[in-house]
Amino acid sequence: MTERIRELIRKLERERSLPEAEYAELVRDRDEEAAELLAALAAEKRKAVFGNAVYIRGLIEISSICKNNCLYCGIRQGNPCAERYRLTAEEILACANEGAGLGFRTFVLQGGEDPYYTDERLSGIVRAIKERHPDCAVTLSMGERSRESYEALYVAGADRYLLRHETADPGHYALLHPREMSFENRMRCLRDLKELGYQTGTGIMVGSPYQTPEILAKDLKFIETFRPEMCGIGPFIPHRHTCFRDEPAGTLELTLFLLSVIRLILPEVLLPATTALGTIHPRGRELGILAGANVVMPNLSPVGVRKKYELYDNKICTGEESAQCRDCLEARMRPIGYRLVTDRGDAPVWKREPART
Ligand code: SAH
Repeated sequence: MTERIRELIRKLERERSLPEAEYAELVRDRDEEAAELLAALAAEKRKAVFGNAVYIRGLIEISSICKNNCLYCGIRQGNPCAERYRLTAEEILACANEGAGLGFRTFVLQGGEDPYYTDERLSGIVRAIKERHPDCAVTLSMGERSRESYEALYVAGADRYLLRHETADPGHYALLHPREMSFENRMRCLRDLKELGYQTGTGIMVGSPYQTPEILAKDLKFIETFRPEMCGIGPFIPHRHTCFRDEPAGTLELTLFLLSVIRLILPEVLLPATTALGTIHPRGRELGILAGANVVMPNLSPVGVRKKYELYDNKICTGEESAQCRDCLEARMRPIGYRLVTDRGDAPVWKREPART
């Protein structure tokens, strides 16, 4: 590692911020030694805030039907080969009940942008989960909606919302998304979610097509200034039925590096070691935790639909029962010195009064 890179890492640790050009430099000129130093500093920070706790969130993939056509995504509307399904309210509740029995206190409802889930239907589902499990947090990850819709869902009891910004560069955004979608609307959604009082998550795919160190620098600056409570980053993995089928997947190395950088920028952020990371490397999630992540998201979807929620090729955890997924992660965390905790795990910085009426 050059003296310059060591200096940038020390500055990042001290100031939790770098000018955009220096973020780009750090990403561009990184090496193994730099990654090791960053990971050690990130582990220190995470330990100071969270000890050796790793939070679990139960992921329920509620629909593979999507009206959007994101170029990278296996369940894009334009993929005629995608197998489509949609869970009923009863099925979603059954997943949450099973999860609650296994100790989960957060349920993440994720899906394509499926018009079936109107505000009324989705609010009803959120209410039912919160009535049945008042001590649990509900996180939604259902894509772009109107401010009114986000507000209705918040009033219904949703606590958190995950909406990756995907890229902070408008030109890059346009290369990954169809013309009907816009960077401006994505940003509008994120602003609305935050203003309404959601604990808000954003993030990117690492190694998405056309991504450069300069673009990643913009992402890091966006994450630094937006201050999300959660940040989902995982490698891009090509899906065989998309136009990015021949693009290379994002690397383990760069994903781990960025996890450490983000931990230094936002020591209190909830940062998952994603399923995509576990897909590109057999120990990807363990390595993600060691690099600074502090959340894992075992799958609680009914086993029969898991293969159909195929955002990318070779997704792991599609065959096991929910209890097995949980036990598997527990068994992966223990030997590396971490323990799964079952409390809600709200963001520690979370102090805003809920605006529900
Ligand atoms: N419809 C919701 C949920 C999308 S799926 C939304 O728009 O937010 C959740 C995330 O999976 C996406 O934000 C994207 O970053 C990621 N994803 C999609 N396709 C992927 C791929 N081919 N490789 C890796 N991650 C992918």
